[in-house]
Amino acid sequence: MAEQWNRIFGNWAGELEGDAWTLELDNSIKPDRPQRGWNQYIRNAFARFRCSLCRNSWPSKRVQVVFHFSFNSTQHRGTVKVRQFKQKCRRCSKAQMEEPSFSSENIDVMVEKLMEKIRIRCYGEKPPEVNRNLHVNGKVEGPHERLHCEACLMGICKNEKNI
Ligand SMILES: [Zn+2]
Ligand SMILES: [Zn+2]
Repeated sequence: MAEQWNRIFGNWAGELEGDAWTLELDNSIKPDRPQRGWNQYIRNAFARFRCSLCRNSWPSKRVQVVFHFSFNSTQHRGTVKVRQFKQKCRRCSKAQMEEPSFSSENIDVMVEKLMEKIRIRCYGEKPPEVNRNLHVNGKVEGPHERLHCEACLMGICKNEKNI
């Protein structure tokens, strides 16, 4: 998972010439509570999950992903931390929270929008006049399982489009 994020982020961050940006997965970052000097971008996306007990798998279009990012313009270094919220199987009583698995295509959509936020917040660029609607792809049937969603349990799960 980390390699997939890094490869796609690397493609986009390469456009910020002269500055070295890195991305890491970090489950300790807190939504809506970025550290001092850090910015936040939060959105939901489509992913699949697989139970490590029974191999049941399920899709969800309501997977919260939180990005915290900061840029040191003197050192020309930027850091992005990503937290992907987990879900657990509803068939197993002892199910554990599982990491989502995103398609490369959907990570690309998230990172494209993240780069827009980075350019605005860290480089002072203006938001693009035409706000491209970047949708993540994937079909889901059935309701969102609140008791099995880590973000719901933390009270931060949203279902917004185009954020
Ligand atoms: Zn299961
Ligand atoms: Zn939820």
